[in-house]
Amino acid sequence: MTHRTLGIIIQNVSGWNLLPQTIDILPDGKEESAPQDRNDMILFSALCCLQHGAFFIGGTMRELIDKLRQTQVLAKEEWIKLIDGHSEASAQYLFAQARQVRCKIYGQDVYIRGLIEISNYCKNDCYYCGIRKSNKNAVRYRLMPEEILACVQNGYTLGFRTFVLQGGDDAFYTDELLAALILQIKKTHPDCAVTLSLGERSRESYRYLFSAGADRYLLRHETASQSHYAMLHPPVLSLAKRKECLFQLKEIGYQTGSGFMVGSPGQTAEELAEDLLFLKDLNPQMVGIGPFIPHHDTPFAGKPPGSVELTLFLIGLLRLMLPGALLPATTALGTLDPEGREKGILAGANVVMPNLSPVGARTKYTLYDHKLCTGAESAEHLEELKKRIQRIGYRVVTSRGDFIKQTDLNPEERKSSHVSV
Ligand code: SAH
Repeated sequence: MTHRTLGIIIQNVSGWNLLPQTIDILPDGKEESAPQDRNDMILFSALCCLQHGAFFIGGTMRELIDKLRQTQVLAKEEWIKLIDGHSEASAQYLFAQARQVRCKIYGQDVYIRGLIEISNYCKNDCYYCGIRKSNKNAVRYRLMPEEILACVQNGYTLGFRTFVLQGGDDAFYTDELLAALILQIKKTHPDCAVTLSLGERSRESYRYLFSAGADRYLLRHETASQSHYAMLHPPVLSLAKRKECLFQLKEIGYQTGSGFMVGSPGQTAEELAEDLLFLKDLNPQMVGIGPFIPHHDTPFAGKPPGSVELTLFLIGLLRLMLPGALLPATTALGTLDPEGREKGILAGANVVMPNLSPVGARTKYTLYDHKLCTGAESAEHLEELKKRIQRIGYRVVTSRGDFIKQTDLNPEERKSSHVSV
C-alpha cells in the first residue's frame, strides 16, 4: 500500500475552536488518532485540505521528514531541500510527527515561564534590535533588585515556577548584584527555576551565577553563518564568541538555550540549514526561534518581516531533530499572528513565556515594532492563555518544566519515541 498521510488541523473561521484532528496513516497501514467516523472524517479532512490549498505531500519531503524523525540527523543539502520545499501539506505531515514525538516525552503539557525584562540598556548595536545602543529614541529603564523580586512574587502567586531575567547587555548588573538576587529568589522560592538571558559574559561570570543557583541560560546564536552574522552585527561582535559562550554555558551545567530569527535580512535556506547543523552540534536543552520583525529605529527598518509559516515549519523540524528540547512558541510569533502561540504548539512547541515585567517597562522593551505584551501574552491574563491552550487540546502546568533527558524515559517510551540515546 502506498503511504499517504493526511495531517490536518481542522480550523473554523473563529480560530481553533474545534480540536485539531490528525489522521496519520502510517507506513504499516495503522492509523493514529482515528476519528469516530472515519469515512466522514476523511472526506471532511480532504475538503479542508483542498480549501486550504494543501495537497498530498511529495515523496521526497515525506522521506526526509521520516528520516529526520528516525535518525534526528540530516545533511546540509537535505535540510535545504526540506526548507525550500515546504508547503502546507508537508507542514501538516511534519507537525503531526512533531506532535507525536513531543507527546511521548512531554505529554500534552505546556510549560510557562514568567519573563521579566530587567533592562533595556545595551552596550551592543545589533542592526535588527530596537534596544540597540545607537537608538537614541529608546526610553531607557532598568529594574532594581526589589522590583525584580516583586515581579517574582507576583508571578509565583499566579502559578509561575520559572522566572526568566532578560535584558540588554547592561554592565549595571554585576556578578555580585545578580548572585545576590538569584540567591534571594531561590531562598524565597526554592521550588522555582531561574533562567538568565543577559547576553555574553565571561566564563567566570557564568560560573559564579551558576553557583549562586541560576539553572538555565538563554543566548541565541542568531545565525550560524559567519558572513550572515556580519550582516546582522557590528564588527565588534563575533559568531565565534557567541558559540564559545554557548559551549561554556553547557559545560558549566546550565540548561542552555540557543536559537535564531527566521527571515532576518540576508537569510536563505542555506543559512537556516547551517543554523540547524550548529544546533545539532551544540545539542542545547532549549531552542527559541521567532520571525524577524523590523523596528522603525534600526538600520533594518524597511526590511520585510519573517514568515510565520516558515517559523512553524522550523519548530516542527527542531522537534524532530532535538526531540526533548524545550521549544517556546515565542512572542514574535504571537505578534505576527494572533494565533501564533497555538500554531506554535501544534507545530511541536511546548513552552510559552508570558510577560511578567512591570507594566511600565513592557512598552519600553521594544525589540521590534508592535511587540505583543497584552492579553494572553501578559502574565496577568494567564487564565485566558490557559483557556486558549486547552482549546487546542493541551494544558498549561504549574511546574518548573525542566528539560527531560531521553535517558530518563523508560525503555518502552524510548523505543516508541524513536529517540536514540
Ligand atoms: N541581550 C540578550 C537578550 C537579547 S533580546 C542576549 O543577547 O541574548 C532577545 C532576542 O530577541 C534576541 O536574541 C533576538 O533573537 C530577538 N530579537 C531582537 N530583535 C529582534 C527583531 N527585530 N525581531 C525579532 N526578534 C528580535
